[in-house]
Amino acid sequence: MEKNVTLPITDENGYYEIRLESIGGLGANLCGKMLGELGLKYLGLNSASFSSYGSEKTGTPVKGFIRYSAPGVDIRIHSPIKKPHLLAVFHSALLSDASVLEGCGSYTNIIINTVNGKEWEGFKGQQDYGGVYFVDAQKIAIETKSRVNVVMLGAMAKVMGFVELEALNAICEAALGRKYPAALSGNLEGIRRGFEEVRAACEYGGGQGGEERQDVKGEEGAKDGRAGKSQKKSGSEDVPTWGYETAPIGGINPNYGNCVVNDLSPSRQGYFPIFIPEKCINCGLCDTTCPDMVFQFQKGEFKGREMMINKGLDYYHCKGCLRCVDVCPVQALVSGVEAEHPRKEYFMPNQDLIRNPLNYEKAGPDGYVTSESYLTGRRMKGGEV
Ligand code: SF4
Ligand code: SF4
Repeated sequence: MEKNVTLPITDENGYYEIRLESIGGLGANLCGKMLGELGLKYLGLNSASFSSYGSEKTGTPVKGFIRYSAPGVDIRIHSPIKKPHLLAVFHSALLSDASVLEGCGSYTNIIINTVNGKEWEGFKGQQDYGGVYFVDAQKIAIETKSRVNVVMLGAMAKVMGFVELEALNAICEAALGRKYPAALSGNLEGIRRGFEEVRAACEYGGGQGGEERQDVKGEEGAKDGRAGKSQKKSGSEDVPTWGYETAPIGGINPNYGNCVVNDLSPSRQGYFPIFIPEKCINCGLCDTTCPDMVFQFQKGEFKGREMMINKGLDYYHCKGCLRCVDVCPVQALVSGVEAEHPRKEYFMPNQDLIRNPLNYEKAGPDGYVTSESYLTGRRMKGGEV
């Protein structure tokens, strides 16, 4: 099966570069490894891949970097990829932080895991991209009992244009077949559907100008024109408003994975806990088990006794691990498919962390939330807060 493919586009060093933007739990790290092996074993290319992620696996930002080059071109650069030829966004919610598009330009094809592409609306017409593609990887993953990463792998192969489905299947069998044989057929189906169902944004009525994939096949060795060419500065490259020198004292950064107010919702993989308060006996086991301060208990009365009552969940912090469902002794928490419950009935913003919940619900990538300790300090000094 091995063959020598011709890279359709390369940078000044002769590299074709891929960046994965993801959240821990969606499998981007494994996906990057598979892409790296794919290049070496099945495409006859030189390849290198590595990921960057934080200490806690689920819910924290993950970036994957993959470089390909022709056999005669050594890969000697091992730094993060700034100007990718292919950018894969594993969860549409990541687009709330424009820095995921950093360095993208007319040489970049972008694939977004999204239901209908509405998260892309705000980016339309802002910058010239090679192509923008959508795939509902979450839905496909649920239907095929696979994972988002393999569906994105299939979509990436289609958009790259030089990877055949057969090679993807082989790398999937090698990576997962031995370890998880029961899950292999679902993963192969997920890859196939990702390959077949990825669509240009224009087919959703979105994107920018109804672009098609740049058909660059046959332009052997074409340089992408990134070097020495002044790029239109994308919004994502703007200097952040809040930084090390400008952030207010006591302020906290609410970006993904940064602090107690982090938004973990993008790391849910289609499932979330549903609360049935009529069954709840307020035992508190869910609160003890949950790693992310989701449950909101307040003083109240239960069976004539004053006690802490489970008032609901702050789904903003919930990463969908479903440990609470396992531990609840009376099935007051059950697992549900999130897409079937657009209205989260027992959503209750975390009352302890933020005095005004809207402050953090609306905080954007450059927003900040002022901590209670800072506010208390101000009050003690007689200041108004
Ligand atoms: S574990 Fe179940 S019964 Fe106990 S407080 Fe949580 S939801 Fe209620
Ligand atoms: S699924 Fe349950 S245990 Fe897991 S983060 Fe959400 S609320 Fe907490």
